[in-house]
Amino acid sequence: MPPPGQRRRVTVYVCDDCDTRALGEQLCSECNRFMRAAGVGGLCPCCEEPVAVAAFVEGSFGQ
Ligand SMILES: [Zn+2]
Ligand SMILES: [Zn+2]
Repeated sequence: MPPPGQRRRVTVYVCDDCDTRALGEQLCSECNRFMRAAGVGGLCPCCEEPVAVAAFVEGSFGQ
């Protein structure tokens, strides 16, 4: 089991229809369609929205 506080890197998916973002879940629950993979990411520490790792300042996320 990973130590508490360690964030797992999972794929962030974005729905092109409703702009919903999801973490590690490709099927949009709103539209019931498959979303586009935005990249590997995690939950934003400030707003807890799923964000792709490219949105973070380089080196500030993960190891
Ligand atoms: Zn959708
Ligand atoms: Zn945020």
